[in-house]
Amino acid sequence: MPVSVERCRSGADAGPVRDRGDYIDPADGLRHCGKCGGAKEAWFPAEVRAFTGMDRRPAECPCAAQEREQREVEDRERLRRNRIQRLRAEAFRDLPGEGWRFETAPVRTPALEKARQYACRWDDFSREQIGLLLFGDVGTGKTFAAGCIANALIDREVSVRCVSCSQMVDRMQNARGEERERYLRGLTECGLLLLDDLGAERSTSYGRERVLDLVDRRLLSGRPMLVTTNLPLSALREASGLEERRIYDRVLEMCAPLRFSGESFRRGKGRARTARAAALFNER
Ligand SMILES: [Zn+2]
Repeated sequence: MPVSVERCRSGADAGPVRDRGDYIDPADGLRHCGKCGGAKEAWFPAEVRAFTGMDRRPAECPCAAQEREQREVEDRERLRRNRIQRLRAEAFRDLPGEGWRFETAPVRTPALEKARQYACRWDDFSREQIGLLLFGDVGTGKTFAAGCIANALIDREVSVRCVSCSQMVDRMQNARGEERERYLRGLTECGLLLLDDLGAERSTSYGRERVLDLVDRRLLSGRPMLVTTNLPLSALREASGLEERRIYDRVLEMCAPLRFSGESFRRGKGRARTARAAALFNER
């Protein structure tokens, strides 16, 4: 086999030559890398040689090994990013929360900080099957906080589904047998389910049954759930209807209540914009 023998020299200039192409090292008779000097071949043991009639096999020199390892790291990272992208698209099919992040929250509230801690300690909460019930007035950032938790977990490759109660009920009503079962299985088997706006679903027996069915399945699966609601906690605790009671009892069993209160989140956002505009007007 013809090999370049550029570095096959003798005398004073026989030291290592970089990037001059591969060479045969007279010391071992093997092809070596022109860059790192490592062997690119290895001898077969005598018995293999006798058996196959071949004396050497290709080997990986240190610089080639390093390049391969680097490529493998990049490949793994690319695959990880693809998986996360898929998880995020799946999670936010019904809720526009792909960009919601704790780091870029327009307003920081104590409740949002609690939500952030929940995401940080997800391993503990999920092991102990503890979800969150995010309740409080309209516009205090409950869904945003739940979406931030979802994104933080997706970054850690947890599968998440976000759906509002009313969407879920509609979807269940419009879907047929197998499709419906698949949809429900998706909501049951994901690592975290965000059930948005509990209590806003159609208050028909059908609607309540669907919500109860999903909550039941989730309870049995032992996987946590985030539930947001505009209903006051007392309304959940003292619901009079039998179906509501059954739903809310299970939600309260599975989810620790987290109150969102105080200034409207949207008003806060509006105020932040006003302040920013004032700053921009003052800049010259
Ligand atoms: Zn090399």
